[in-house]
Amino acid sequence: MKYIVVTGGVMSGLGKGITTASIGRLLKNRGYEVTAVKIDPYLNIDAGTMNPAQHGEVFVLSDGGEVDLDLGNYERFLDINLKSLHNITTGKVYRNVIERERHGDFLGATVQIIPHITDEIRHCIDRAAAEGINGGRVAEICLVEVGGTVGDIESMPFLEAVRQMHGEHAPQDMLLVHVTLVPVDTMGDHKTKPTQHSVKALRELGLQPDIIVGRSSEVISPQTKKKISAFTDVPVKAVVSAKDVPDIYQIPVELEKEGLADVVCSYLALENREPDPAWYRLVSQEYTNRATVAIVSKYGIEDVYISIKESLKHAGRALSTEVNIRWLDAETLDLRDLADVDGILIPGGFGQRGIEGKLRAIRYARENKKPFLGLCLGFQLAVIEYARHVLGIPDATSEEMGPGTHVIALLPEQEEIFNLGGTMRLGNCTVTLREDTMAARLYGKTEIVERHRHRYEVNPAFIGDLEDAGLVFSGACRDRMEVCELPDHPFYLATQFHPEFRSSPTNPSPPYIGFVEACKKSRSATGIR
Ligand code: GLN
Repeated sequence: MKYIVVTGGVMSGLGKGITTASIGRLLKNRGYEVTAVKIDPYLNIDAGTMNPAQHGEVFVLSDGGEVDLDLGNYERFLDINLKSLHNITTGKVYRNVIERERHGDFLGATVQIIPHITDEIRHCIDRAAAEGINGGRVAEICLVEVGGTVGDIESMPFLEAVRQMHGEHAPQDMLLVHVTLVPVDTMGDHKTKPTQHSVKALRELGLQPDIIVGRSSEVISPQTKKKISAFTDVPVKAVVSAKDVPDIYQIPVELEKEGLADVVCSYLALENREPDPAWYRLVSQEYTNRATVAIVSKYGIEDVYISIKESLKHAGRALSTEVNIRWLDAETLDLRDLADVDGILIPGGFGQRGIEGKLRAIRYARENKKPFLGLCLGFQLAVIEYARHVLGIPDATSEEMGPGTHVIALLPEQEEIFNLGGTMRLGNCTVTLREDTMAARLYGKTEIVERHRHRYEVNPAFIGDLEDAGLVFSGACRDRMEVCELPDHPFYLATQFHPEFRSSPTNPSPPYIGFVEACKKSRSATGIR
């Protein structure tokens, strides 16, 4: 196993995750099997309890792991299915060590950060690297992204573990990549001081980077690269410029142009094979159509819906359609803002806030025949809207939202999980689609696997009445309703699962394809340009 460890300097939010995923893509394009591990130096066991408005989207893996959104990037860039063990947190590491201490496993030793915590970190990294990808072979290369910024107190034990690993691995088996910021000043000059400082901080921890990726608004010039090289002892060819690009999937293209793959392959003693051009072709295509989609949400932060945003892009790519998103606040929604959009998307969410606005948007989409895609909470609200305005139950609501008629409720099975301390239905589930429905047509099959993250469900007591009133439940997981649609509408589909967790540029999600296709059609029908 060869390791590529990616650290970050200067500040967070530099796109270290995308850089890591892109390096993986360069190798994958050369036919190498790649896996990825994300280290998050916070004390939470996982991202499940973290506020998405602060931390961004909680990504859900096939095994139900609720993880950092970077694992979503790895899955999308590398076409792999990761597991909870690929997201290592301080919480998980300490929990393992403390449990073993209570169990007496340390035989009276003083339990310390070094060696016990660092050993555990190394054990976690090795175990994650050794996990077969997509249930098959073990990868040849494991990317390890260390979250946070070099110099943070939280990341110290992790960087110490990396230092130890580095010492024990042959140079061709372990690479250190440092991602830093190279800002441009008001005169238009690149500044190297922040990079000098962060490399200095890294060296103080005993780590000398092999490669520096400089994030910048402009391409970093050869002179600037030389200067960075002189201060850091990293050869000029290994100082790589990563300038901002409009589409994250073009970053591998940019890094390829910078010659990063040559450097990585030569350092890791890998044959630099001719890269498969499919990815580059896919992400460089010109769009021939455009569509505007409204996303009605209660969070003002786009990072909360990163997988949805990306899934729209994946479907858009497949249909040569550039999808523009209009973010609308559910609490202050003005229906006039929906008049000129081509489609309406209601994402997942928790709690009462903003749901009345989302219900108005769904009603608008249903009555005005606008393409509509509802996801998780969006599915539940579609059912509630139908119950209120078609079935005639004015106080229809979800048990989650308080008193009323609970057409969405906590099922006994879920209540049991609740009592056991788990709170949500998470991860993969097989859903059976009803033949001759739009859902089955979109997927091209009737057995599908998708991922969940929810507690409440359609109350079985109302399914018959809803169906008699015209709502078609076109997908179910045993007796739990998973998909609903309206046959007399150009595109009205909602899912209890989150198809966005399985979408990638090379494998766009069927419900998103259907939705974007309908948006594209509705746009040409209305003649909006
Ligand atoms: N709050 C809803 C539930 O728990 C929906 C969850 C979601 O949208 N992810 O069932």
